Amino acid sequence: MTLSSTDGAPGLEARTGPVTPGRPLRRPGWHPATVAAVSPETPNARRLVLDVPSWPGNDPGQHLDLRLTAEDGYQATRSYSIASSGDGTRVTLAVDRVEDGEVSPFLVDAVEVGDALEVHGPLGGWFVWRPGADPASRPVQLIAGGSGVVPLLPMVAAHADAEDPTPFRLLYAVRTPEDVFFRAELDAALRTADRAPFDLDVVYSRRAPEGSTAPVGRLTRDRLAAAVLPADADAQVYVCGSTPFVEQVLRWLGELGHDTTGVRAERFGGS
Ligand SMILES: Cc1cc2nc3c(=O)[nH]c(=O)nc-3n(C[C@H](O)[C@H](O)[C@H](O)COP(=O)(O)OP(=O)(O)OC[C@H]3O[C@@H](n4cnc5c(N)ncnc54)[C@H](O)[C@@H]3O)c2cc1C
Repeated sequence: MTLSSTDGAPGLEARTGPVTPGRPLRRPGWHPATVAAVSPETPNARRLVLDVPSWPGNDPGQHLDLRLTAEDGYQATRSYSIASSGDGTRVTLAVDRVEDGEVSPFLVDAVEVGDALEVHGPLGGWFVWRPGADPASRPVQLIAGGSGVVPLLPMVAAHADAEDPTPFRLLYAVRTPEDVFFRAELDAALRTADRAPFDLDVVYSRRAPEGSTAPVGRLTRDRLAAAVLPADADAQVYVCGSTPFVEQVLRWLGELGHDTTGVRAERFGGS
């Protein structure tokens, strides 16, 4: 598959082998990365594990910039949240295909193990949660739409790994059961909820799992109100998803009495 530039320049192919040394456009902070593993995440999304030998490690919730460079020098850069955290040099991403997008279809359908990319980061110090960082008395409410769960997963995983006593809750809006990212990891966090309190509410907009009695339909203000901690719980709230999803959730949280100036929001784009 070829990734075409919008100005008619020749297409972009993922390069294999090492990144060309000393490329004039490379800035300090760009790390050579090799695709170590790929696997389907949902019917529309793919998990990519990158081997980044010079990666400095990252906190749960941070993101990176990923850059593809064509043989002719054409470059495309996009931001992706990091689904992993810690000091290792393996970085996990999960990319959802945006139809007619330039980069995401390429990452979901074409990139192969061994391909070389570049990443810049880790980026973002606001949309972060670390075990022990918040007083245990202040609960955490996570709210995700679709791939917006990517930066929240490492928070959930770090919370579970540390057996952190902070109450954690995730409201996750998806279309169908097949569209749930990180099902196994979320189930694992639920299994350790006695040691690291974690509740998960999934809202299915098109189809719920067989046997489920949960109502099917788009997230509404009432469903949000029923699923998230109330304003007087003084939760630290994180919201992530497409820009329209995040804006809508912020509006509803404000109407429900939450102080939205303290809400940490990450917008993935779209209109
Ligand atoms: C901080 C940050 C973290 C992100 N993390 C992730 C992640 O973990 N996983 C992931 O899949 N994406 C993530 N994104 C979105 C990602 O950066 C790209 O925007 C996305 O992959 C689309 O790129 P594209 O080149 O395919 O589309 P483009 O060619 O850039 O855009 C094509 C069309 O799609 C629209 N569009 C762009 N992004 C979206 C979107 N997210 N939803 C709906 N429409 C869109 C554009 O407005 C445009 O009309 C993140 C974005 C940010 C800012």
